[in-house]
Amino acid sequence: MMLLATPTAVADATAASIFVTVLARGPIARSEIAAALGLSAGTISRAVRPLLDSGYLAEDGAGGPPRLGRPVVPLRVVADREFMVGVKLTADHVCGVVVDLLAQVRASREAAVTDTSVPAVVATVTDLVEQLRADAPGPVTRIGIGVGGHVDSAAQLIRYAPFLNWRDVALPELVSATTGLPVVVENDVNSLTAAEQWFGAGVDVPSFAVVTIGAGIGCGLVIDGRLVHGAVGLAGELGHIPLSADGPRCRCGNTGCVETVASEEAILRRVRAASGRDDLDMATAVALGRAGDRDAVDAFTAAGDALGRALAVVANLINPHRIVLSGEGLAASDLFESAARASFATHAFGQAVECDLITRPLPDHTWARGAAAVAIQHLFLGPTPTAGR
Ligand SMILES: [Zn+2]
Repeated sequence: MMLLATPTAVADATAASIFVTVLARGPIARSEIAAALGLSAGTISRAVRPLLDSGYLAEDGAGGPPRLGRPVVPLRVVADREFMVGVKLTADHVCGVVVDLLAQVRASREAAVTDTSVPAVVATVTDLVEQLRADAPGPVTRIGIGVGGHVDSAAQLIRYAPFLNWRDVALPELVSATTGLPVVVENDVNSLTAAEQWFGAGVDVPSFAVVTIGAGIGCGLVIDGRLVHGAVGLAGELGHIPLSADGPRCRCGNTGCVETVASEEAILRRVRAASGRDDLDMATAVALGRAGDRDAVDAFTAAGDALGRALAVVANLINPHRIVLSGEGLAASDLFESAARASFATHAFGQAVECDLITRPLPDHTWARGAAAVAIQHLFLGPTPTAGR
């Protein structure tokens, strides 16, 4: 039985920010870290020492050109110091990965979910984690779990996961009891955003948003370097921004939400109604759009227009440096991206339009890797601070 890891790997915020800087920019010299963080060389040296002693950082043997007679020895993160397991839950399967401290996927597995009751899913996740620990090149010290729906990150509770029909499930407690490891749960889109923040498109910018398109429209926000959860974990419900007073009914009970036009279901509903084919699937709708079928083209164009308005809401509200578009729906981006960009340009306010709008397709295991990235963040930053706790 492995000993439980301490709550955080490093003692203070300075050490944590040094680690993040080396993570993003390493190998990097102490002097460059000092410049990047606005700290003195002495402060950096003192804070780096425990990270070197505990094996999270190492001096890069290759070194750099000597300056003023002293060799410059850059620092790097020791990727294999320890490993994290990331798990993504969906209605019919769980996907898991082992990552190192650079969030590189080192092993992956999937398991089917045939029973969505809490004990059955906990048992499936536990089995998957045990298999992944056997696959891992070294000790696994933490588990991150990502799930779609309302996750209260501060309370570490799944408040509502619609596709599992779960309410108020303390999943981290349950999986920690069966695996003996610290477990953190996070909303799936926020997990993806955490991975982009430390290891991807958000590394070089303090404020950015990740917008996912597919079955729903999700959004993760990093503002001034912090992943935003809001009061109860509902920040970023972009799919339910009201765009119009009427329009189709949304699954949330309201009308006119972004998702009623821009989600895959909305596109499909529109193409089915126009074609009279109730069994038409998404692949066929995409094929019709690409073949120039007027109704299909109109449905994707309307979706792109609604998406662009939603992106303009994000830009006007938080003025991010960058918006990263991702999600399964990107596979059909050729059918809606230009409409989305045009509508974004129309509705973004002033210089907010200069926001860098990029698309990032999702390689395999991206969602599970995101959950593992949350576990890495918890290793260095600790649990999400929250008022009254
Ligand atoms: Zn809605």
